[in-house]
Amino acid sequence: MDQKSAFYQHVAQTSDAPMGLEVERAEGCYITTTDGRQYVDFISGIAVSSLGHRHPAVVQAVKQQVDRHLHVMVYGEYIQKPQSDYAHLLTSQLPDSLDRVYFVNSGTEANEGALKLAKKYTGRHKLIGFHHGYHGDTHGSLSVTGRDVYRDPYLPLLPNVHFLEFNSHTNLDTIDEDTAAVIMEPIQGEGGIIPADKKWLKSVRRRCNETGTLLIFDEIQTGFYRTGSLFSFQQYEVVPDILCLAKAMAGGMPMGAFVSSSDIFKSFMYNPPLNHVTTFGGHPVSSAAAHATLRELLDGNYGDKARQIERITRETLTANAITEVRGQGAMLGMELQDRDLTKKVVETCFEKGIILGWTLHSDTLVRLAPPLIIEHELLLSCLQTINNTVDHFSSQI
Ligand code: PMP
Repeated sequence: MDQKSAFYQHVAQTSDAPMGLEVERAEGCYITTTDGRQYVDFISGIAVSSLGHRHPAVVQAVKQQVDRHLHVMVYGEYIQKPQSDYAHLLTSQLPDSLDRVYFVNSGTEANEGALKLAKKYTGRHKLIGFHHGYHGDTHGSLSVTGRDVYRDPYLPLLPNVHFLEFNSHTNLDTIDEDTAAVIMEPIQGEGGIIPADKKWLKSVRRRCNETGTLLIFDEIQTGFYRTGSLFSFQQYEVVPDILCLAKAMAGGMPMGAFVSSSDIFKSFMYNPPLNHVTTFGGHPVSSAAAHATLRELLDGNYGDKARQIERITRETLTANAITEVRGQGAMLGMELQDRDLTKKVVETCFEKGIILGWTLHSDTLVRLAPPLIIEHELLLSCLQTINNTVDHFSSQI
């Protein structure tokens, strides 16, 4: 059976219209298909390949680790150099209160762990999320995801979850002495690339302090220089109690983590023992890849690169039918006048060899998240193609 038939007949599908790109290779900003076509990955598959595909430092680290050992024991029992080295490097970049890393395999698992940790530490079970927030598709993460259309088919989810308006000062007193945690993305990704207001975020932090509530930042999409700083919270000058990471973390290998203080993590060591076991969390090959990724990110001025991507994008996307370009750094969204236009632009750019995408909760927003390594010329030519495509179709409407 050829791979295409096997995909459609035997791989479980997540939609009735998958993009169906038949991947042969991926290198740098490009994905090459089996029929030899090259596409620019302008969404970094989504916000993962910030260093591009197969970054040489990541590939080398993976190869070296594969030659030493693969999985040896469930997470947390054995001392494994790639994991320890990475935890050390990562925490050296964080405030003192974020000095412990719990490794998992994905974003949603990081959020699951963070929610459990907050409940265990505070002894409370009320949780607060935000409308249009997105935290993943397992039951706990889905319970704090703020869009009914994704939640309703799976009810009942976790009880005692409350949703507040993002960027609104009203109802902050819902955060009270019964609340274990507030979970949020500093810039809502799937909700339509909506940055938090700095003052508002500080008020949320203040309210959490007043009530002994833990503040969880889901930086799964915003992390690792995507928004111009290593983590988005550094620009907001608000330090979370728990920081959740994944996606770009390991340069294309699967990995997630939640980071907190030694004090908070103590509550994960007893009653029951092994509170949050994961077999593959912090897999040595992923840890080696994550270490190489972070080293490269720290050495390479990627904050400037993300800011340049934002500047050039804002300068170039000027077509009349673009109602807004929003976001920060290389986590941007282009809002168009209507759904049909958005669909045509995404489809036509794909035919022209540029992969764009939607965000989960919005159908008039085109996601723009190119690899941070993208060269100026390629960036500009893609953006010009996108802009001209918008112009072309909007003049037909
Ligand atoms: N949180 C955020 C903010 C995300 O963008 C995503 C993935 N889109 C997740 C959580 C879930 O991550 P994963 O798909 O690795 O479970």
